[in-house]
Amino acid sequence: MSYEVLARKYRPQQFSEIYSQEHIVRIFTNAIETGRIGQAYLLTGSRGVGKTSIARILAKSLNCLESLSVTPCNVCTNCVDISKGNSSDVTEIDGASHTGVDDVRELQKELLYVTTSSRYRIIIIDEVHMLSKNAFNALLKTLEEPPSSVVFIFATTEPHKVLPTIISRCQRFDLKKIPVEMIIKRLRYVADLEKIEIDDEALYPIAKKADGGMRDALSLLDQVISYGITHITIREIEEIFGLVGYDVFNRFMDNVLQSNTRDVLNLFQEISIQGIDIQEFINDFLEYLRQFMYIKLNIKQEGIEQTALSTMQDLCKQFNEDEILYIINYLIETKNNLRISASPEILAELTFMKIAKITEMKSLKSILEKMSSTNYKFQSNLQQSINIPKKSIPAAEPQPAVPLITEPKPAVQEQIKTIEQPSVSNNPAPKTYTFEEVKEAIPNLAEFMTITDSKFIKGN
Ligand SMILES: [Zn+2]
Repeated sequence: MSYEVLARKYRPQQFSEIYSQEHIVRIFTNAIETGRIGQAYLLTGSRGVGKTSIARILAKSLNCLESLSVTPCNVCTNCVDISKGNSSDVTEIDGASHTGVDDVRELQKELLYVTTSSRYRIIIIDEVHMLSKNAFNALLKTLEEPPSSVVFIFATTEPHKVLPTIISRCQRFDLKKIPVEMIIKRLRYVADLEKIEIDDEALYPIAKKADGGMRDALSLLDQVISYGITHITIREIEEIFGLVGYDVFNRFMDNVLQSNTRDVLNLFQEISIQGIDIQEFINDFLEYLRQFMYIKLNIKQEGIEQTALSTMQDLCKQFNEDEILYIINYLIETKNNLRISASPEILAELTFMKIAKITEMKSLKSILEKMSSTNYKFQSNLQQSINIPKKSIPAAEPQPAVPLITEPKPAVQEQIKTIEQPSVSNNPAPKTYTFEEVKEAIPNLAEFMTITDSKFIKGN
């Protein structure tokens, strides 16, 4: 018997096997249980999230010979035929290859025939946005006055390309991307049934790479299995998909900690020689740093290999949150610039040179704190005018961190002292200085403040 790919073999056959779309499953369950079946449904969502599976399960629920039920039997002729795509009462059309008005006219003729053994005639149109404008218009007429017992189920990855007049005649359901942990759960289930020895840590990068699509995740697992490895570990996964392991990022962070620019660049060269795409590398680095920050904040992280995890735990104790946020900021900036850069490798190298110096920088806040603790009292409005943001946990996009600047040289500190305590009076009245006044009085200070606006400078 020929090999059946995992995505097909493990396609959900019941609503209970649909992951992460509980809201939609509940609505369909209610509709079936109360017999309030709509005439047109539109399922939207990225690829592999379960649109076609839901359409087929719904078709089986409506036409199962046992009963109209949310749990179709999957053994009667109707259920089996629908699962195989052979049912004469359920027509599946690929919108991508049947785009013309003639295809829709053909379909309209089909709708005139009575069903053979089913309650409903069901038309599933996949990638419905690919239909031509004329085809949409022809379809619109049918949707306005559909023959009784006809149910349309449309699926699309690009709902914005579907005519609003079509959408308004449908009940629309937006399917969510499937979370990584749910994909891991399903992959583990499939791997166990297939007797595939694979470590839990090895499932994480597969689930991550699938980007919310279960079908993609199973196809990736198929790809890994085809290498014929008896016991699959994270190393094999990294090799097969050209991923950079967390141990490599740990080495990066260790070199950054030592301010070892040479080793940081050597490591980056090693990665480049392996032919790893810079954009992907930076994406992976950002994902690593996200986990790094979570560990720093004592938020439990799963899917990281134990050795790599304990190294990360040791490393993150030696970085403060601002430094981690700054590295994240540098990488996001570089990631955005890479798209328009003619020399992405040079751009990336420059970024890593800057990152290598991160621990030598001091935050503006820490300098102000130090100065105020040593009699150089800045008044509150100076601090306000510099506007120090509070430390924050990165959400989807990290917030800007506290600016890092050099500590003012003793000469500058002396000048600050001068303006704070004017020598003309023995008993000076307390005076508040604005940021502008300080800038004017102390050119050097003004210089370092100005440079701070453009984010970073190297520390002394
Ligand atoms: Zn059945």
